[in-house]
Amino acid sequence: MTHQVTSTGKNRKKILFLFSDTGGGHRSATEAMIEALDLEFPGVFESAMVDFLVDYYPRPLNRAPEIYPPISRLPQAWGFSYKASNSRTRTRMLNQLSYPYLRRAAGRLVRENPADLIVSVHPLVNTNLMRAMRKSPRPFITVVTDMVTTHAFWYDRRADLVVVPTEQAKERGIHFGVPEGNLRVIGLPVADKFCRPVGDPLAFRDAQGWRRDLPVILLVGGGDGMGPVKRVAKAINEAALPATLVVICGRNAELKADLEALDWKMPAHLYGFTREMPAFMAASDMLLTKAGPGTISEAFIAGLPLVLYARLPGQEDGNVTYVIEEKAGVWAPRPREVVEAARHWVLDPAARAEASAASRRMARPEAARQIARLIADQVGVLP
Ligand code: UDP
Repeated sequence: MTHQVTSTGKNRKKILFLFSDTGGGHRSATEAMIEALDLEFPGVFESAMVDFLVDYYPRPLNRAPEIYPPISRLPQAWGFSYKASNSRTRTRMLNQLSYPYLRRAAGRLVRENPADLIVSVHPLVNTNLMRAMRKSPRPFITVVTDMVTTHAFWYDRRADLVVVPTEQAKERGIHFGVPEGNLRVIGLPVADKFCRPVGDPLAFRDAQGWRRDLPVILLVGGGDGMGPVKRVAKAINEAALPATLVVICGRNAELKADLEALDWKMPAHLYGFTREMPAFMAASDMLLTKAGPGTISEAFIAGLPLVLYARLPGQEDGNVTYVIEEKAGVWAPRPREVVEAARHWVLDPAARAEASAASRRMARPEAARQIARLIADQVGVLP
């Protein structure tokens, strides 16, 4: 289902969230904000989330969520189109060229979804939609879900507010013409279950049958178990590190089956998609993952040192530099580099503790609730 009304009721303030399932944590960030609105202001808001690409935009854009996974596996092509379009002049030109083609869809989207406020959680919806609403503008907030190397498409000066996760993303907003007073550095909205204290990590280890006396290496390839998870898991296994390896394969059943068939030389535990990620993270000592913004923000809250082994060129480059510069993790694009980074933290608990503290310093567990309060403020609901 792409169009979801999550809570309803008379006289509630209507908030329309525009997202699309094109990776990059758009869906999880949207869900986190809706949850935060309900937690902070129970019964006050009626939220709807619309995958605008699938439900409204014409072909071939409406197929973007299907096309995204294969395209993102061609990092060169992805990086080229990302970088080629990433300037004020070029986005303006692309927006001008696409407007006649998208105008009707944008108009219909606005007419069919009456709302007191619109929240955009996607770079591709901002300018055309605000142009379509020229005659009857509505309060509009953009919530940027890329961390640092944010694309020019995110920023339109007409937005009432643009919420960004980092100072660097704010600087880019100013560069792309957003008035400084309309930018807010808050953080990436993360589901409430990551922001609350989790149960006893040792009890979780016991329940899962993980040894208490070995450090736990957690390996996650996003919700779909994408990227070189198998190669990384194999390399760690070949190194037979004195640690437990926990692999979350997400929805990738084939990956899980392949790993189950492996001849394991170290304690290993394999899982499919889990809803208990906060407990998995809390019970682990480091996280090996691709540079997705959602997983990175969650890892910060759990204070996990990060080994990042893959990223989408352009959009996720900045996630990597951000983590490295803050000393919360390392970039290890080849499996043997992943092994060396993991080995270092397995064998040196003091270095691991330092990276863990750096990771925790980056945590923004309040982000979703702060954004909920901003939304409330914009529509005149007083906390
Ligand atoms: N996730 C989950 N269970 C799993 C695997 C992943 O809940 O078994 C969640 C993870 O916690 C994160 C999201 O899926 O919130 C992945 O988001 P990210 O931005 O890292 O990557 P994407 O897959 O959106 O590119």
